[in-house]
Amino acid sequence: MAIQTPLPNYINNTWHFSAATELLDVTNPATGEVLTQVPLSPTDEVHHAVTAATAALDDWRRTPPVQRIQYLFKLKNLLEENLDDIAKTITLECGKTLDEAKGEMRRAIENVEVACGIPTLMQGTNLEDIATGIDEFMIRQPVGVCAVIAPFNFPGMITFWFLPYAIACGNTMIVKPSEKVPLTMQKVFQLLAQTGLPEGVVSLVNGGRETVDAILTHPDIRAVSFVGATATAKAIYAKAAANGKRVQCQGGAKNPLIVLPDAEPQFTATATAESAFGCAGQRCLAASLAFTVGEARSWFTEAIADTATARVVGNGLDEGVEMGPVITPESRTRIEGLIQTGAEEGAHILVDGRHPSISGGENGNFIRPTVLNGLNPHGTLAQTEIFGPVLGLIHVDTIDDAIALINSGRYGNMACLFTNSGAAARKFRYEAQIGNIGINIGVAAPMAFFPFSGWKDSFFGDLHGQSWDAVDFFTQKKVVVERWA
Ligand code: NAD
Repeated sequence: MAIQTPLPNYINNTWHFSAATELLDVTNPATGEVLTQVPLSPTDEVHHAVTAATAALDDWRRTPPVQRIQYLFKLKNLLEENLDDIAKTITLECGKTLDEAKGEMRRAIENVEVACGIPTLMQGTNLEDIATGIDEFMIRQPVGVCAVIAPFNFPGMITFWFLPYAIACGNTMIVKPSEKVPLTMQKVFQLLAQTGLPEGVVSLVNGGRETVDAILTHPDIRAVSFVGATATAKAIYAKAAANGKRVQCQGGAKNPLIVLPDAEPQFTATATAESAFGCAGQRCLAASLAFTVGEARSWFTEAIADTATARVVGNGLDEGVEMGPVITPESRTRIEGLIQTGAEEGAHILVDGRHPSISGGENGNFIRPTVLNGLNPHGTLAQTEIFGPVLGLIHVDTIDDAIALINSGRYGNMACLFTNSGAAARKFRYEAQIGNIGINIGVAAPMAFFPFSGWKDSFFGDLHGQSWDAVDFFTQKKVVVERWA
């Protein structure tokens, strides 16, 4: 289907053109081509979606869970059939390679599969005879109208950390995609429309700050799930909570790896490069710092420089390309500035990816992989999320030094260790103040059947996305104490 301009919203199972006065260009980051325009939907269009979602609630929660998940089985099949097409859309608007985009959609589909287990996952508990002849039950009921506010870097997957669980639990859901990458959700909602879900169960409202504000302040929205930068996460957490909503906000990151002398050199360099430069470093689980311990310094520095230099950069749609552009020209300029900051703080630019020459990519937002050697662990760059293909190397004497530096950071999304020592691995996973840990893994992304557990300034709330945390988030517990004569 041809791309519409401007993109419509989806409310009450109908596509609506927004009355927004402000439209933003949606641009292919590899070519600079404008793909379409997205409306910044005004407050009353959010209210329209909330009215539809509220009207749908009663019938939907009374639909037995085994029937609710039949729509998810259909969605899973539709996503499988259309995976290549959706992946191509992700690459077009977000820049990552086609393989990365397909991988993203696999992770999305896994969440649909897990949510199909809701008839089991949503069960409560009970105890007979809490006193003589008295029984007690805990049952789970849906929360009500829920909303997701998503970031640009996973236009497909992140909404799926929440949406399948929310609707399977009997809630209705409004999705607000990133205004930088709104096309993927258009495709997903075209598929949701084919599942036959009743009117109002899922809605799509495109927009920016005003749209988000309308979500955060509407009294009939009961729960908000957010993923994005830490500053936004913090502000949204505070505002949603002040408006009486349950809220979960996943924020930014500064992910470190530790390389011990006994790690396998080529495997470690390859896994580190995949983590630091995959998706052009625009993953919340991208490695941004590598701590080499003792003798790992010399072999790792050489191996990572070679691996970074060899990476094939270009348009993510082209075969053989291993890394695409970053999302916007502003993002590229910001990343180039941060590389300079690292150098000014004492690092040597071992591999400089700024201003590359990419055939056909003259109007794209390209930066090649960059490695900063000897980064100052106490400088600003060691604490700042770069969100680009830049790895800083910090050399330390012991694993304790590395863990202490990691634990002094403000973020806690992911940390990884490369080693052959079980004792070192256990020490690391025990002591690191981090939510997602990788041992000989460069991107420790939890599968859909585990929660996605950022800590510290990487997460605001208590229940995370995915799995049983999502079931807890999208249900409220009711306790019944019962006696019959
Ligand atoms: P962002 O915070 O700029 O935007 C995220 C969403 O919030 C978008 O839908 C946007 O429209 C909205 N938004 C932005 N500013 C707002 C404001 N002032 N008021 C109201 N709404 C606002 O994030 P981004 O640049 O799209 O995404 C990249 C960030 O997301 C990175 O920091 C990355 O680490 C983080 N991220 C975290 C995770 C995680 O699981 N922790 C996963 C993916 C991305």
